[in-house]
Amino acid sequence: MSIINVKGTHDIIGKESELFHYVESLMRLISKQYAFSEVRPPVLEHSELFVRGVGESSDVVRKEMYTFLDKGERSLTLRPEFTAGIMRLIVQNKLYATNDLPLKYFYLGPVFRYERPQLGRYRQFNQFGVECVGGNSYFYDVETISLAYDILKSLKLNNVVIKINTLGDEESRNNYRLALKEFFKEHIIDMCEDCKQRYELNPLRILDCKVPEDQEIVKNAPKMSDYLTNESKERFQRVLSALEQLEIPYIVDDGLVRGLDYYSETVFEFHYTSQNGNNYGAIGAGGHYSHLVKEVGGPDIPGIGFSFGVERIVSVLKDDNILNEEKIDDRVDFYVMPIGEENLNYAYEIARKIRHLDFSVDICLEKAKVPAMFKRAEKKNVRFAIIIGENEVKERKIIIKNLASQQQIELSEDKIFSDIYDIYDQCFSCDGDCENCR
Ligand code: AMP
Repeated sequence: MSIINVKGTHDIIGKESELFHYVESLMRLISKQYAFSEVRPPVLEHSELFVRGVGESSDVVRKEMYTFLDKGERSLTLRPEFTAGIMRLIVQNKLYATNDLPLKYFYLGPVFRYERPQLGRYRQFNQFGVECVGGNSYFYDVETISLAYDILKSLKLNNVVIKINTLGDEESRNNYRLALKEFFKEHIIDMCEDCKQRYELNPLRILDCKVPEDQEIVKNAPKMSDYLTNESKERFQRVLSALEQLEIPYIVDDGLVRGLDYYSETVFEFHYTSQNGNNYGAIGAGGHYSHLVKEVGGPDIPGIGFSFGVERIVSVLKDDNILNEEKIDDRVDFYVMPIGEENLNYAYEIARKIRHLDFSVDICLEKAKVPAMFKRAEKKNVRFAIIIGENEVKERKIIIKNLASQQQIELSEDKIFSDIYDIYDQCFSCDGDCENCR
């Protein structure tokens, strides 16, 4: 039996890979415009980092981690998210002491969660995100949301809905937690097993329950907004009014609590429904954290970050026909066809020379007859064939054939550097009508 991929993973091949590159390079570019720089933490971390960082009551830690003992009996985990690893990287390298605060980092790479695979939900998927750590102003929340919004805008994702909420400071959350415990006391017996655990560990997480019967109960639960301290209320108002001034639209959703335990104050999600009405849920999400750096052994400095699901964003781009495989131009520019093995050295020299001029060039390295090589060139959808026979080697020249117009010209080797750009530009759009082709 042949071996197939692991459930919940997926192969990214050819043109689809170009879609990922497009999305990822825009994300990098705009993050750099906001003066964020890249960090690359390892995929493997000590399990304890996530238990402490992400939190024991989160679904991610309770049910979804790929955790195993290595040969030295250490419990290791394939990262289920980036934030905790980046906090570890900051603390371990004492970046908070040697750099100006805030530290502004972006990241990209695979994360692993043992979830039930379904549409848009994988066990290995890619996240791109940022962390801004050590800044005290509420405006870093605005800056982070603004960055995420600019990325989505530059990807032409115009149907994004930003949902935003505040979880308040510690005092607000303690008060709210007590109110929730009181409210759910009489209901918890009828609620799902997960909620029973959440009731003990972190009752806020009950608000995120997806079981319909539980959601009915949740509807009547106390609202966070009634338990916020004045400081938290004011902070949130400032964030909202800055977003308004920047014309970044949002919807306040007071049921938004986020799945990871470290959040406090501002939390947000980016939701997307395609023009066909397909609801992708959250294509990205994030929030502020007050004590996460301390939790992993560093000073008590706050941070804020967000994370995009790259697969979901690629799916949305395809669904809304903003970008798809058909729109990706990955045609090879030149296909070099040596007629006979004895001409291979010169042909390869030519291929290399043209590659160095920034064109994509493929070459037939197999023994093949001329018609067969043309068939290959056609199949590869190349723009120009370069034919090299005995005569061309002797006279150090090449024959370039435009496969669309079927016109061909000769070019001496020493003219390649000066003429090939013109030939390429004119002949590609000329339909055989340009000076070179006639
Ligand atoms: P989170 O780290 O849970 O806040 O997730 C951030 C983003 O990652 C989400 O908004 C999704 O776009 C994406 N995401 C989360 N889980 C998955 C998954 N299992 N498969 C694909 N994308 C995911």
